[in-house]
Amino acid sequence: MVSGPARAEITAAGLVFVGQGDLVGMTRGKSLPAARQQAAASEGVGWVPANLSLDPFGGIAPNPWGPTGEIRLRPDPAALLAIERPDGPSPFQLALADAYLDGEPWDACPRGLLKRTLAEVERVTGCGVLSAFEHEFQLDPGAAGAHQDAFSPHALAAAEPFPSTLVGVLAAAGFAPEMVFSEFGPRQFEVPCGPAPAHEGADRALLLRETVREVARWSGRRASFTPIAPGAGVGNGVHIHLSLRGEGGFSPLGALDEEGGAGDLGRSFAAGIVAHGEALCALTAPSPVSYERLGPGHWSAGYAALGGVNREVLLRIVGPGTSSAHVEFRAADATANPYLALGAILAAGLDGVRRNLPPAARQDEDPATLDPAERERRGIRPLPASLEDALAALAEDEALSGWLPPELRDAYLAMKRHELDLAAELGSPAEIGEAYGRIY
Ligand code: GLU
Ligand code: MG
Repeated sequence: MVSGPARAEITAAGLVFVGQGDLVGMTRGKSLPAARQQAAASEGVGWVPANLSLDPFGGIAPNPWGPTGEIRLRPDPAALLAIERPDGPSPFQLALADAYLDGEPWDACPRGLLKRTLAEVERVTGCGVLSAFEHEFQLDPGAAGAHQDAFSPHALAAAEPFPSTLVGVLAAAGFAPEMVFSEFGPRQFEVPCGPAPAHEGADRALLLRETVREVARWSGRRASFTPIAPGAGVGNGVHIHLSLRGEGGFSPLGALDEEGGAGDLGRSFAAGIVAHGEALCALTAPSPVSYERLGPGHWSAGYAALGGVNREVLLRIVGPGTSSAHVEFRAADATANPYLALGAILAAGLDGVRRNLPPAARQDEDPATLDPAERERRGIRPLPASLEDALAALAEDEALSGWLPPELRDAYLAMKRHELDLAAELGSPAEIGEAYGRIY
């Protein structure tokens, strides 16, 4: 089912937060009286360009803008969230914004870049895009406790009233929740939501995270989307489900197994995503802890390969031949900016179409069970083992480096080098993991 974005009426009460997704995947902005929301929509809220480079630890990364300049954040009336705690003082209201510079869309705005990339997908393939970001998260990460309750009704019951409240709030806010269930890890949950068109899937990812965090607060819990909590054994993935939709709802990505026509388009698009797998990780799994989650044997994604029923590959074909056929990109997490993650995946797919890449062979075995020579023969490549390796792959990847506007690319690379330095100062991998658990 395709549903619209999270739509809501902002009430005149309380505050509304107007913000955007920054380079480290956080939602940042300013709050204003809700009664002023209309005025803000036309004038925009004043914002400093360098705020895009706020780091996860409370500082700011070196960036091309410094203390000068001003952009305006214009809230998009189609990207609103208003949820109300039953006995709360005022609603929790949030509006996502586009950034403008001198009255024009700001080149470095991640949401704007995704919109331009979507227009290019439509121009080249004739298709629109549907996406759904499937989130895993943990309640109170780091708290001791057994997790023998994986996938059980008891784990859900033990977390009440959180799960029941969450599903009601998500449904009322238009997220089209498909499930809320206890996952494998300790106090780990998953919430897949219905697909949304164009950039709205990425909007929904940011809004969903804030909703989950807020509803957890209502029952005195803390929700964390960190890629992996120390000792959890299993990570919190953000699997990006993606479909191209042409005339009559037909998806070339559903025709991956067919040769000719739309089948060839889908095959080249998917092959492009797999071909750029290493560089994509720099934008989709972009923090030092991301690489504690990724890797063989974690059911996250260990290899740049296309697969069917296979949870060790970068890209999975889901439901081929059915009307809901699509692909699932598995090497993403919530430290990524969802606009950059989705945009980069689309840019990689487009590069595959432009180069008319031959299909990536479908791997239905766990690549770790093949000997290295056989993996090489099949063209199955390991994903980067660290953020440093992923950044090196991005630097060498002309198509993806060139897809990022120069200022945004400089700011992004400076942020990631800065983040690596700061994380190294935190100490052991466990200490780094705990810090990310608190932050995300
Ligand atoms: N938790 C796994 C991850 O880190 C995903 C497990 C699943 O397939 O749902 O991506
Ligand atoms: Mg899962």
